[in-house]
Amino acid sequence: MTKKIAVLPGDGIGPDIIAEAVKVLKKVEQKFGTSYQFDEYPVGGCAIDQTGEPLPADTLNACLASDAVLLGAVGGFKWDNLPGNKRPEAALLGLRKELGLYANLRPAIVYPSLVGASTLKEEVVSGVDLLVVRELTGGIYFGEHKRTTTEDGTEKAIDVLEYTRPEIERIVRLAFELAMKRRKKVTSVDKANIIETSRLWREVVAEVRKDFPEVEVDQQYVDNCAMQLVRNPKQFDVIVTENMFGDILSDEAAMLTGSIGMLASASIGAGNNAMYEPIHGSAPDIAGMNIANPIATILSAAMMLRFSFNQVKEADAIETAVAAVLEKGLRTGDLAVKGQPTLSTTEMGAAIIEELDRM
Ligand code: NAD
Repeated sequence: MTKKIAVLPGDGIGPDIIAEAVKVLKKVEQKFGTSYQFDEYPVGGCAIDQTGEPLPADTLNACLASDAVLLGAVGGFKWDNLPGNKRPEAALLGLRKELGLYANLRPAIVYPSLVGASTLKEEVVSGVDLLVVRELTGGIYFGEHKRTTTEDGTEKAIDVLEYTRPEIERIVRLAFELAMKRRKKVTSVDKANIIETSRLWREVVAEVRKDFPEVEVDQQYVDNCAMQLVRNPKQFDVIVTENMFGDILSDEAAMLTGSIGMLASASIGAGNNAMYEPIHGSAPDIAGMNIANPIATILSAAMMLRFSFNQVKEADAIETAVAAVLEKGLRTGDLAVKGQPTLSTTEMGAAIIEELDRM
């Protein structure tokens, strides 16, 4: 059955990197006999220019009706002075909320050929292959935020941290299901020595793990986990945690791998809705120069095939093609060491397609 993909290129380098991901998906169709329908819609700054809104109703409705959303990036200098809810980035929050995307999945994989690109020692990062599963629609980011004064008139700010049992259960269960398809280890991260929501989190983990007896479970306090990620990242398979801890830890984990141009992500919801995007932004400093690294977007497309369409061998093929291209020493500017020849965005896309062709 044809899968409907809402394609949102966005701003800056977004259109360039999305074009390469779409070309790769078209090659997958040809090679594996899958079928995708690509429908393009404006989002972010370009949508503001066209309609006055960062997330026009037509775009949102198309995303709601799609089998998956593939997004480039949004934002740029031109729209930097607009108020918060009118900025291009407001579209991302709107999409997460309206599509009910409660889980953010960020793999951090250190490719053998890029091991030198990390700021950490080779022996620490080589072989790292972990997945951070972050709760995305609850916790302190979604609790009440307010200013008040104490009885003696001192100014005071309050942010409320809340989680319900079902909110925790669905994300923890997803993490265990994902671990079953990987190396069968879940590290649950919390601050249960102090925070009540974390104590509830631990109770839920204790319940859910009974359904996954094959999965090894480790529980770490968030401060320890932050340290373990740079001390011994190879111990991790799936890390599951609440919204704010996940925000911080997933950025830390991403940096183990070297370049931001390599990192894919998926945001998954309760129904069929899901959104796939690189973790980097619209890189206005290199927009229109055909030098952006398209790999993060191409790997996001692979995640879409794996998680939304259950097209596992197709996803594997894309990931293998990316690894093969890197193994050959082909590099976009962000990955190259000084003096190394570099490929343009379109050349890198073409090299990956050539690898797919050869399989
Ligand atoms: P950025 O990720 O766009 O860029 C940071 C640095 O990384 C820049 O030097 C850029 O050239 C480089 N870079 C990023 N992606 C690259 C790629 N694929 N290949 C090569 N180099 C790459 O972050 P920023 O500069 O802080 O933000 C720029 C704009 O993007 C802002 O408007 C910001 O709000 C927006 N943004 C959007 C998203 C998103 O759409 N999900 C995420 C982050 C930032």
